[in-house]
Amino acid sequence: MADTIKCPRCAANVYFDAASQMVTCGFCGKEFTPAEILHEVDDDKIFENVEQEETEAPSEPKFKRNAVEWEKKQFVCNSCGATMVTDANTSTTYCVFCGSPAIIGERFVGKFEPEFMIPFKIDRTKATSLFFKWCNGGLMTPLNFVSPKNVARMKGLYVPFWIFGVKGDIDIRGTGKTVDTRSGAYEDTRTVYLYDVTRRMSVSWKGMPFDGVSRIDNDLMDAILPYNYDEMVEFSPIYLPGFFSEKYDVESDKLEKRALNQARKYATQIFLDTTKEYDESSISNDLSEFKTDDCFYALLPVWFLSYKYLGKTYEFAINGQTGEVAGEMPQSVVKKVLISSGVMAAVAIAVKIVVSLILGGFFG
Ligand SMILES: [Zn+2]
Ligand SMILES: [Zn+2]
Repeated sequence: MADTIKCPRCAANVYFDAASQMVTCGFCGKEFTPAEILHEVDDDKIFENVEQEETEAPSEPKFKRNAVEWEKKQFVCNSCGATMVTDANTSTTYCVFCGSPAIIGERFVGKFEPEFMIPFKIDRTKATSLFFKWCNGGLMTPLNFVSPKNVARMKGLYVPFWIFGVKGDIDIRGTGKTVDTRSGAYEDTRTVYLYDVTRRMSVSWKGMPFDGVSRIDNDLMDAILPYNYDEMVEFSPIYLPGFFSEKYDVESDKLEKRALNQARKYATQIFLDTTKEYDESSISNDLSEFKTDDCFYALLPVWFLSYKYLGKTYEFAINGQTGEVAGEMPQSVVKKVLISSGVMAAVAIAVKIVVSLILGGFFG
């Protein structure tokens, strides 16, 4: 059974509104603060009678993109009783028949229960204008890329992340080099000084996030970091309706190596940053040791849009909290030709019309 959260006043579906940070009723329009609605609807009760799904996360993460065979599962909408089909990892979606938000409780219990989450702060309107800013109003992209139909496909997804803490001792030896040049009457004297440099210190890093979804590109996620953890709240289904969510399919121990590698990169940077008094420095021996000392499961908000152009898929993502934007955009072959023949002005006007249709005429 898929759950929905109902308005305490009229029992219609409610949605979390990222712009106002309020839970809003789709029927009577009443707005509730998350605290108010939690008072009315005990969120512990939402998943009270839900049993964990039998399916285990795959033991071998399939990092190869598009190679994952999606297992489909059926759920019954508790608003209209229709049967809907979801991917194996989808945990919040919409009923395709009645449009109700559908939270699949089985995917939030047991080991799939997130500890924390950051609620969406960027709503669809803001995400759409960030998209247009990023692609320069679609000036060089295929016209379809900025069409209302394509932009409407942008999807707000709570992505499952494993958030690591790493502790350790930095012990890096190397060489610092300074060069002293003195001008003489006949020739310059150049003296090179070499110093042994050792940097040792205890370090502890918190909040290193890695996504637990094998089909999502790691580089794309890295590019929209960081998140501001000050706004992290305890997980609650109250923030889900109106967005999509997934459960992880990559276990935390599969990501430990990436966390330790990241720590090693930070350590190298510390060595370089603390040896700036030399003209040059290099590492000869790195005996640093690190271990993960903490790991928790959280849902973080991301807006996604993918687009297929000439057989290639282009991915775009926005940090749903900070608005940080990343992705690769398709370049229109037609527009490139037009630019060289000097008729680009007409195309620019056409693009502008499409964009202002979507943004309601406010795009300058
Ligand atoms: Zn209502
Ligand atoms: Zn339904």
